[in-house]
Amino acid sequence: MAKMKAAFLHKPGDIRIDETDIPVIEDDEALIKIRAVGVCGSDVHFYNKGRIGDFIVKRPLILGHECAGEVVEIGKNVKNLKPGDRVAIEAGVPCRKCYYCRTGRYNLCADVTFLATPPFHGAFCEYIVHPEDYLFKLPDNMTFEEGAMIEPLAVGVYAAERGDVNVKNTVAIIGSGPIGLMILQSVRARGVTDVVITDLQVFRLELAKKLGASLTINVTEDDPVEKILDFTNGGADVVMDAVGLPETLQQTINIARMGATIVWVGMPTVDEIPIRAVEAICKDVDIRGIFRYANAYPTAIKMVSNDQVDVKSMITTTFTLDHVQEALEYPGKHPETCIKVIVEI
Ligand SMILES: [Zn+2]
Ligand SMILES: [Zn+2]
Repeated sequence: MAKMKAAFLHKPGDIRIDETDIPVIEDDEALIKIRAVGVCGSDVHFYNKGRIGDFIVKRPLILGHECAGEVVEIGKNVKNLKPGDRVAIEAGVPCRKCYYCRTGRYNLCADVTFLATPPFHGAFCEYIVHPEDYLFKLPDNMTFEEGAMIEPLAVGVYAAERGDVNVKNTVAIIGSGPIGLMILQSVRARGVTDVVITDLQVFRLELAKKLGASLTINVTEDDPVEKILDFTNGGADVVMDAVGLPETLQQTINIARMGATIVWVGMPTVDEIPIRAVEAICKDVDIRGIFRYANAYPTAIKMVSNDQVDVKSMITTTFTLDHVQEALEYPGKHPETCIKVIVEI
């Protein structure tokens, strides 16, 4: 059997590059040579802790789910792809049969196979197999690195959709990390003129400004609630939280206009968070959760190809496959300068 190199997480803090079998395609799958993989917060969390909630790394696991590559072989039922095609890989593949899959909300499917979520391997390796219908061709004007950025951009596209954001809205985004910046750009691509965004890192706020924020607020200097209420004349129409801390979730309600839509995107690390519910009720707000994304890849790819969003300037640094461990440690070591790390393979 042909072999490939892969980066396996053995236990927290311990990544080893090993040889393993190149996976074999089924009839409806393609074999993809991986070319670029983004490092996500969830990869870093698995690397540091060996688990996220009930997902526990019990045997050596290949991390990485924000990926793009080149088709090298196709199964006999594959119709729309051929060897040589460059593709973005949608990380989650659902069952296609359950109620949620059949009604278009396949991100809620209970039987999703999601890259780099135990027990399923991810893409810090040379090859993966993936079903044709969750592979999306990249236009010639897009790089593999931009292709790898489609996964986090899909979260931004879906968050804007969940928020029903329209051109007349004022939008407030809490947090200017990779997801906050993707939400910012997705909202701007909808034509919104007034977007305010917060963070505690100066360089992130500077990038947010460059990517279209109307107002940036450094929460280490200013009170975000006061500033946003002032900027929006009494509250934002749509509020997005890309942080997931108890205080930021409460802030989403404080900075919402009456009747606003609030989208909670950032995943909290604690189960129970006290919220001033009376304020939410009396403000008549809609609070919406969002879990990953559905039907967002084609739009995300077009947005990059058409220059409606700029994902390139979010890439801080790149590593090779042999240095995946350094790539996973980089965000924690460089919080003042890091947005997105890409592993090139
Ligand atoms: Zn991710
Ligand atoms: Zn399903």
